[in-house]
Amino acid sequence: MSISIVVPIYNEDENITLLYNSLHQVLSKLNRWYEILLVNDGSTDGTLEKLIELTEQDEHVRVLEFRHNFGQTAAMSAGIQEANGEIIITMDGDLQNDPTDIPMMLEKIDEGYDLVHGWRKNRKDTFINRKLPSITANWIISNVTGFPVHDLGCTLKAVKTNVARELELYGEMHRFIPILAHWRGAKCIEVVTKHHARKFGESKYGISRVFKVVLDLITVKYLIRYLVSPMRLFGVCGLVCGIMGIFF
Ligand code: UDP
Ligand code: MG
Repeated sequence: MSISIVVPIYNEDENITLLYNSLHQVLSKLNRWYEILLVNDGSTDGTLEKLIELTEQDEHVRVLEFRHNFGQTAAMSAGIQEANGEIIITMDGDLQNDPTDIPMMLEKIDEGYDLVHGWRKNRKDTFINRKLPSITANWIISNVTGFPVHDLGCTLKAVKTNVARELELYGEMHRFIPILAHWRGAKCIEVVTKHHARKFGESKYGISRVFKVVLDLITVKYLIRYLVSPMRLFGVCGLVCGIMGIFF
């Protein structure tokens, strides 16, 4: 099956060439049709120039360009819609994910899984403001949604394109892709993936991301539980308000 690598990129100019080289090394050995879809999410550094250079150098590279910074979820979603491959691999553009994990993830897709999501078991980020909030958030999300998962924040995933296209991604929803796909009946599996510390550039997220994830969790819970019959929620609310109106 053919492959589209989808990478959202925001101000990563020092990482672009190294990212391309590491992807090229792995992908050129796979004997499959592939494309590298780099989504420039309104970068203001030299990222765009570097991306354009790559398209001139290698016909496997395509660039999508946003007029301004719309966020990682929007960038990922645009890449998913534009992908020509039958399998989409999503990953970060900052060299924290490792393309050498891709063949192992493709094997899982070949075995019949629809979605393979990574678990950065040996995550190379700071403990207090990155790993601890992430472990806590994953624990809460697993319990609230009933979907056993260690690491929803790992962008490295392989997913069949037809499954990815069904998902409606907005807000910070790219983190919930495995849950949304599972809810739609996709066969999902978690695999341990490598992780590297960021060497160049900066993380685009602070601790405020935890609150956004919690708000998105409420949306996801609502979608899973009530989308098919919203009146079960709103009807009960209306009934309670009506009864209160009679007595008070
Ligand atoms: N990113 C993006 N748009 C944004 C924020 C991030 O395209 O508004 C990209 C970023 O360039 C990187 C990936 O999303 O390729 C993950 O971002 P980051 O490394 O900052 O996240 P972290 O690893 O800290 O969770
Ligand atoms: Mg990162």
